Amino acid sequence: MTLALSGQVVEPGIAIGQAHNIQRNEIEVGEYRIEPDQVEAEIERLFTATSEAGDHLEALAKRLRRVAGASGEEIIRTHLAMLADSSLIQASTRHIREQLCNAEWALQLQLETLVSEFRAIDDAYIRSREDDIVQVVRMVQQVLAAEQPDKPLVDVPDRLGQTLVVATELTPNELAILHDRGVAGVITEHGSPYSHTAILARGMGVPVVMGVRRAQALIREGEQLVLDGAYGIVFADPEESLLRHYLEKQSESDRYRRSLERSRGQLAQSLDGQAICLMTNAEKPEDIRRAVADGAEGVGLFRSEYLFMQGEPPDEEAQVEHYRRAIEALDGAPLTIRTLDIGADKSAHLLEFESLRNRPNPALGLRAVRLCLREMEMFRVQLRAILRAAAAGPVHCLIPMLTTDREVVAVRSLLDETRLDLDREGIEHGGENMRLGGMIEVPAAALALERMGRHLDFFSVGTNDLIQYALAADRVDENVAHLYDPQHPGVIHLLSHVFETAGRIGLPVSVCGEMAGDRRYTRLLLAMGLREFSMQPRSLLEVKKVINETDIGVVRDAFRRWREGDGETGNESLAQYLDHAQLHH
Ligand code: PEP
Ligand code: MG
Repeated sequence: MTLALSGQVVEPGIAIGQAHNIQRNEIEVGEYRIEPDQVEAEIERLFTATSEAGDHLEALAKRLRRVAGASGEEIIRTHLAMLADSSLIQASTRHIREQLCNAEWALQLQLETLVSEFRAIDDAYIRSREDDIVQVVRMVQQVLAAEQPDKPLVDVPDRLGQTLVVATELTPNELAILHDRGVAGVITEHGSPYSHTAILARGMGVPVVMGVRRAQALIREGEQLVLDGAYGIVFADPEESLLRHYLEKQSESDRYRRSLERSRGQLAQSLDGQAICLMTNAEKPEDIRRAVADGAEGVGLFRSEYLFMQGEPPDEEAQVEHYRRAIEALDGAPLTIRTLDIGADKSAHLLEFESLRNRPNPALGLRAVRLCLREMEMFRVQLRAILRAAAAGPVHCLIPMLTTDREVVAVRSLLDETRLDLDREGIEHGGENMRLGGMIEVPAAALALERMGRHLDFFSVGTNDLIQYALAADRVDENVAHLYDPQHPGVIHLLSHVFETAGRIGLPVSVCGEMAGDRRYTRLLLAMGLREFSMQPRSLLEVKKVINETDIGVVRDAFRRWREGDGETGNESLAQYLDHAQLHH
């Protein structure tokens, strides 16, 4: 009889195969005392193990770059930064000296301190980084226990082609091993969709469902499984008809993937001949080339905070270098650099701002441009770097989380001052041609768009934040995920207002939130008037395909009918209603 188990959606995709439960090579971390004259040797032991773990992580980073792109490599770079962080190794060294204990135990003590610090931070992103530090420490402890860090799993077959692996949880390292062996899909009992393992799974395209409680107890070894990643469901021992349904769905999705390949060389143009501008979001220069090959006409959102989350805060030269590498990858297409957006769900724990600590409501507090206008020196350095980079190619500067036009005026005047400083110092910059854009993420700014636009050259709508603030539903809190709805009529009215107002006052507008890269909403956005989309690279071909199969006149009329009527669409969502309007046209 079919058993249906549910978990968290991580990576859509269907996997069908046999279950294989895997176990970890758990290590016992014991405490023993050492004599004072053994302290130096024990510290040396810790350093040697740390450097060996570092070598292993370096090799893993290179491997992941091949299989999961730059984002895969970056995850391991974060682990390397944690390994190099003084608060881990130096503090462990101190424990060895002061407590006369072995290196494994000293690491364990420091791990417990760091974990309790992470837990005290009211920030979902940082809390999810707790898993990373546990993994890093575990790897050093494995080396100390003379175990090989590349054998963290017990008895994994060499080939996993038709196999769905069931685990309690997985580290990025363990997932990489399973991927190397061709795993068809993965089910874990624990783990969050925001964890690095989840991000890596998405980069590799491995269908995964996480958080399936008691999966190892409920799924029998060798049992037939069907995993539906889009819905976060696993069926064990499926009935014949269910299995057939999924086999068909799987071949349909293979056909779809092949048709996407065909749209790689095509322009993004609607059936009624309107050219649509597709751009990519990026965090690192390495993300860009592939996106350009898939048709991106530039970078619509370059999340500069990424560089600040990697280790020591970057100085001016490091920032200039980072932006120039992105400009080079674009071959003359524009780069839109968003100024630092940290605070709330994005933390750069190495930036020690007192003003960010223990705030009662960080999402409504000092984040993004609010923080930058408080930490003027840091902001000035970033603006200098952006202006200097702009000498190397077309660059736009984008300000996140604007609330009032006073902030725009303050940024403009700081930019002007910075430009004059560079002129005085005789440093080359590209400030004359640089356009200044504002992110529309605060509902009141969206409603006051005309006023916001007086000092701006373009708008970019950050739907991720705009939706969370419009609906008062935290974007990273799964308890209110059911309220986080891009199709809420209030959100639709807000977005339509933004697109229409921008059109009326003649300022370009794009969307760079996740909504722009979600093909379920492509026709809805086109119908509302959007003509510029910026999205994560992997969505470009999917969204292009929908655009190329849409008559904008048709979906715009259907949208108008929805607006003029009472907003009823029967059992369908508004986006489905528009899709059907197109398909039945
Ligand atoms: C957004 O809020 O939609 C956005 C693009 O910015 P971020 O996701 O980086 O907050
Ligand atoms: Mg945002």
